[in-house]
Amino acid sequence: MTVRSLTGGDSEGLAGVELTIVSRISENPYAVLVRDLMHRPGEMREHSLDVVVSESFGNAVIAVPKGAELGIDARFESLHDGVLVDARVTGTAQAECVRCLIDIAMPVRVEFQELFAYSEDEAFDYTVIDEHVDLEPVVRDAVVLSLPFQPVCQKDCLGLCPECGVRLLDNPGHEHEAPIDARWAALAGLQDFTQDSHDANDSPETQEEKS
Ligand SMILES: [Zn+2]
Ligand SMILES: [Zn+2]
Repeated sequence: MTVRSLTGGDSEGLAGVELTIVSRISENPYAVLVRDLMHRPGEMREHSLDVVVSESFGNAVIAVPKGAELGIDARFESLHDGVLVDARVTGTAQAECVRCLIDIAMPVRVEFQELFAYSEDEAFDYTVIDEHVDLEPVVRDAVVLSLPFQPVCQKDCLGLCPECGVRLLDNPGHEHEAPIDARWAALAGLQDFTQDSHDANDSPETQEEKS
């Protein structure tokens, strides 16, 4: 899984994949060299990095867009079986209010803790590769999970007028002069119908009484 995300394809042979990792890991802005911590349990250090998002994190409604900056403040701790990373990610997501559809900027602030193991055992999701940890997949998952499903410009956003579509927060007291014709028309129709059926019922009775 980690191999795939680094090489962007899984059709290469194993030797090719390993060479690609070695050549690309140092160019990866999310890769942090941890040689100084490896196999030295108890050692710890902090490191901050700023990365430019190369591929949008999120969905059509809300995302940290391509080209946006994320700040990562991380603490790296050497354990017996790997390097533990505690990190805080900050940035800004671009969203569309689900009620009134205006564009909004929302702060992103999320923390994660993840072990990067020395062993390539499948029990571990992430591993130290070529003396580096690649924070990209972990940062992406943490950011995506932190994004709200239904972003709104403010908690009490009133949305759009169902009649004409204006944004109600921008137009306090907005209403229409001749409201809701359709509802009155339906009521009027019902009245006609009652009248008609009443008349229709009357006539046979009258005829029966007469006969
Ligand atoms: Zn809104
Ligand atoms: Zn309106």
